[in-house]
Amino acid sequence: MRTVEHFIGGNAAGGGSRQHDIWDPNSGEVQAKVSLGTGDELQKAVDAALAAQPAWAATNPQKRARVLFEYKRLVEANMDELAALLSSEHGKVLADAAGDVQRGLDVIEFCCGIPHALKGEYTQGAGPGIDVYSMRQPLGVCAGITPFNFPAMIPMWMFGVSIACGNAFILKPSERDPSVPVRLAELMKEAGLPDGILNVVHGDKQMVDAILDHDDIKAVSFVGSTDIAHYVYQRGTENGKRVQAMGGAKNHGIVMPDADLDQVVNDLSGAAFGSAGERCMALPVVVPVGDETADRLRDKMLPAIDALRVGVSTDPDAHYGPVVTKEHKERVENWIQTGVDEGAELVVDGRGFSLQGHENGFFIGPSLFDHVKPGMESYRQEIFGPVLQIVRAKEFEEALALASNHQYGNGVAIFTRNGHAAREFAARVNVGMVGINVPIPVPVAYHTFGGWKRSGFGDTNQHGMEGVKFWTKIKTVTQRWPDGGGDGSNAFVIPTMG
Ligand code: NAD
Repeated sequence: MRTVEHFIGGNAAGGGSRQHDIWDPNSGEVQAKVSLGTGDELQKAVDAALAAQPAWAATNPQKRARVLFEYKRLVEANMDELAALLSSEHGKVLADAAGDVQRGLDVIEFCCGIPHALKGEYTQGAGPGIDVYSMRQPLGVCAGITPFNFPAMIPMWMFGVSIACGNAFILKPSERDPSVPVRLAELMKEAGLPDGILNVVHGDKQMVDAILDHDDIKAVSFVGSTDIAHYVYQRGTENGKRVQAMGGAKNHGIVMPDADLDQVVNDLSGAAFGSAGERCMALPVVVPVGDETADRLRDKMLPAIDALRVGVSTDPDAHYGPVVTKEHKERVENWIQTGVDEGAELVVDGRGFSLQGHENGFFIGPSLFDHVKPGMESYRQEIFGPVLQIVRAKEFEEALALASNHQYGNGVAIFTRNGHAAREFAARVNVGMVGINVPIPVPVAYHTFGGWKRSGFGDTNQHGMEGVKFWTKIKTVTQRWPDGGGDGSNAFVIPTMG
């Protein structure tokens, strides 16, 4: 059986006595193993990174960017292979898998312009003969810890910007779908990145703790579930590291009475159920304003759900595929039961779904709940599956408060034809990323991605200028270059002690 190894100093590297199963979510079988590393493998990666980073930092930004140009070309040339590999371990359909790679490439494109982003500031004449300027310098060796649900995009968010800024990087991808991250690192080498600048180590908590405790790792970016994000933030910052840690989500879609409901239903079908709901920017909660809007929406939602095709991830007609593991399938189904026990109305039940010929695959049919109430645990927590919950609100203010008061604050959307309502909503809602008639408001690469409240710990976001700030430290220089003396001698004398 295939074993996915670490990638250290430009080469595949074994190591770690434990292994983790990589499932094929379509068949329910184990398809490969991944080596789980320890502090020993991490140390090898840190040594390789420390050896390579000074020369990389000294390489001018334009030359660094040229590697990323070539990388973009190579990833595009390998898109089909990457999408197939990603889909086979994650379970998302091929079009979504290619989208995952493409969204990462968008950040790589941003990184191709990194010389512009790294320019510092300059004040001429801040005092008599005095100029002040700042420069952005790399941090040294940095690390990223990533979740299973975007195994291409999220690593590229992190290593793209970090490397372009002159750092060396150690990626610890999810142990559930680790093959694409390794392939992405191999392609970087092919693009001309010096060995040791991008390393991949696999592992679980043991490896994460080793990263958080390693003195030579200066910054850690984490994306995953909230409790672990919080833990990573606390332990990493206690150890004096710069940490950004993005967590879970429960994004709301507010539907005003004047919204185009056909458009909303179409958007919700993709945003709530696409990728089996395993997206941190999915829209699993819909808040219609007024009972009449809620009833109309529900009536239109039912045939749309009926039309959803659940299939193997290679089926070009499937809207979504299986969830990532058996354990995750059980977790989602348990949340559906919790919703029922709490008194929400289960209008469509996706449990017990079976795909002919793939009976052991991790498939879940779409589920719809109505009359979900804010106090319910199934509303408060992230389900991360193909489950849409309708929470009815009487008026705009109530809908706004629901999204604002929820413990998560990643994304939110409002559907309306009223510009004033949309403007008020965008200004007042207590959430980091807002869509106006846009169901999944993931910002483009040159803007920045990050949620509020328990969706994000730390204060700089991913990519865009926020990313550049996170992966660099700023140095400010105050300089004075006095005139030479009028008699041709140099009147300026460097002061000495004593
Ligand atoms: P996860 O928290 O289980 O795993 C994330 C990473 O943490 C993995 O690399 C994993 O190996 C590591 N890890 C797991 N258990 C750990 C432990 N006990 N101690 C230390 N490290 C540990 O997340 P997941 O299930 O892979 O991903 C789904 C979650 O990620 C969802 O909650 C989703 O909302 C969130 N997510 C958030 C964003 C965002 O930008 N806010 C984006 C994508 C996913």
